[in-house]
Parts: sequence; structure tokens; C-alpha cells
Amino acid sequence: MSDRRIGLIGLGLMGNPMGHNLLKAGYELTVYNRTQSKTAELAAAGARVAGSPADCARDVDVVISCVSDSPDVEAIALGSAGIIEALRSGMLYIDMSTIAPAVSRRIYDRFKLLGCSALDAPVSGGDIGAKAGTLSIMVGGDGEAFDRALPILQVLGKNIVHIGDAGAGQVTKACNQIVVALTVQAVAEALTLAKKSGVDPGKVREALLGGFGQSRVMEVHGAKMLEGNFAPGFKLDLFRKDMNLVLQTARELGLPLMGSHQVVPLMDALIAGGGGDRDFISVLALYEKLAHLE
Ligand code: NAP
Repeated sequence: MSDRRIGLIGLGLMGNPMGHNLLKAGYELTVYNRTQSKTAELAAAGARVAGSPADCARDVDVVISCVSDSPDVEAIALGSAGIIEALRSGMLYIDMSTIAPAVSRRIYDRFKLLGCSALDAPVSGGDIGAKAGTLSIMVGGDGEAFDRALPILQVLGKNIVHIGDAGAGQVTKACNQIVVALTVQAVAEALTLAKKSGVDPGKVREALLGGFGQSRVMEVHGAKMLEGNFAPGFKLDLFRKDMNLVLQTARELGLPLMGSHQVVPLMDALIAGGGGDRDFISVLALYEKLAHLE
């Protein structure tokens, strides 16, 4: 293992299980989390705890981050006490957050000037994939940096694709979020139609899983919807942030993405009702309410 020492910044639903998998794979791990109490679990498992992103990057070969949004990544990478203050030539930075492609490109350019590599490597597969180490990872950046990162990424994920230049991973993640958002809505509508028709939605799901209606969303989220289990998973607030990235990118390109535009007010309605901390699959409850099925 040439890159043995890893710094990990952001121990949320995704970062925390990633940290456990890196420790299990034998890496020396240093962690930083803004809310320090969340470092306790990984510290007990053997990680060193750093006091700032710069401190986390100081004595490691590779720094990974998984925080919420574009301004958060900019702050931990380029801000005061950020990674940039501890960069040494030859270091590799892998950001696994979902953020704006333009921000990933900006960080890539700044780090390159300092002799360091940066990859945007957002993920899909949810907290389940993060725990199991089976995430799908979409990577933007230089081929050499990708090859170097691959052994680490293989600890965290299964389907790992080098898409293209800096920012290409984030563009891919935006594409993923369009498909997932519209599919969650479609599955909720289908299950509501079944129930309102007096047909068992569980049987409908079972039948659809064998045909063109089959999807990972139907399989995993459909099952959770039927159980009425709307715990995140993936918080709706973060999904709404991703749809913002989709619409912002579409606006920059002059693209009319009608489906993405129509799903957003649905998300806003759920958030306004206090559902930002739940999973978007809670949209089923809204459809059932509108159908007088509660
Ligand atoms: P989460 O549970 O809400 O955790 C967010 C993490 O970011 C926390 O550690 C938080 O620190 C940290 N953070 C936020 N703003 C920060 C700032 N300004 N400075 C330092 N740290 C900051 O979120 P998550 O579900 O792990 O998601 C993380 C990223 O992965 C997001 O970009 C999300 O879109 C993406 N993602 C999530 C999923 C999923 O299923 N959960 C799937 C794919 C991709 P505190 O603890 O102090 O708040």
C-alpha cells in the first residue's frame, strides 16, 4: 500500500461508514468532523482525530471529503484552516460530496498549481452502499490520479468509472439524480394507483420487478415505501440541493429539463411540511393523502 495514510473529512451518513471500511482495509486514518462528537465512534475504532481540515491533511498521503454542499467543500478545501494550508506537492485530494461541477474544476485548478491532484468522485448507492462498500463511484480528473486512487476507491465501492476531466464525475452524478428523483416519483404514483384501485401494491411491485418497470428504486425504495419506512437513507434537503445543481447546470447549458423542473415543487412541498430530514420516498405519504388513502 503506497498511500497508507488517509485523512477523511465529513463523518455523516456516508463518511462515517466509509471511515470504518478504510480502517478495516488497514489504512491509517485521521478524521475531522465539524461537530466533534461524531468522531467518537471512529476514534474508538482506531482513527486519529484532527482539529481542522488542515490538521487532517497535514500528515497523510491522500485526503478524502464527504460533506454537504458546494460552499462546504470550498470552505474545507480552500478556506481558512482548510486542506490547502497543509498541502504538500504530490498529495491527492478526492472529494466524494455531490457539488457543482464548476466548484470541482476550480479546486482541481488551484491544487494543480500547487503540484497536487484533485478528483471529483461523487457516489450513488446510499448509506446501504456506503456500509457495504458497494457504492457506485463516478470520477472526474486526470487518468494518473484516478489510477492512484483506484485501490482506495475499491474499498468504498464496486462500480468505479473514470468518466473524464475534472467536473465530469459531478455531471454524471447530476444525471444520476435526475433518474432517481423521477423514478421515486413514478414508483410512488404507481403504488398509489394500485392501492386506490383496490389492488395489492406489494403484488404490483413484485410483478413490475420482472419487467421494464424494474429498477433499483422500485426494488429498494419501493419496499421501504410499502413498509412506511421513510427514515433517511438520503435526506430530502440534500436531494433538493442536488436538484438545484441539476437545474443550475441545465440553465447554464440552455437545456429545458421538464421532468426535473416538475419534481422540484413536490420536494419543496415536503420540505415545507417539515420533511427535509426524511427520505424523498416519503412522497408516497403525500400521494396517499391526496388520494384519501391514509
Ligand atoms: P450528512 O449525513 O448530512 O453529513 C454531512 C456531513 O458534512 C457532516 O459530517 C457535516 O458536519 C459535514 N459538513 C457540512 N457542512 C460543513 C462545513 N461547512 N464544514 C465542515 N463540515 C461540514 O450527509 P451525507 O448523507 O453523509 O451526505 C454527504 C454528501 O454525500 C452530500 O454531498 C450528499 O449529497 C452525498 N451523498 C449522500 C448519499 C446518501 O444516501 N446519504 C448518497 C450519495 C451522495 P456536521 O456533523 O458538523 O454537521
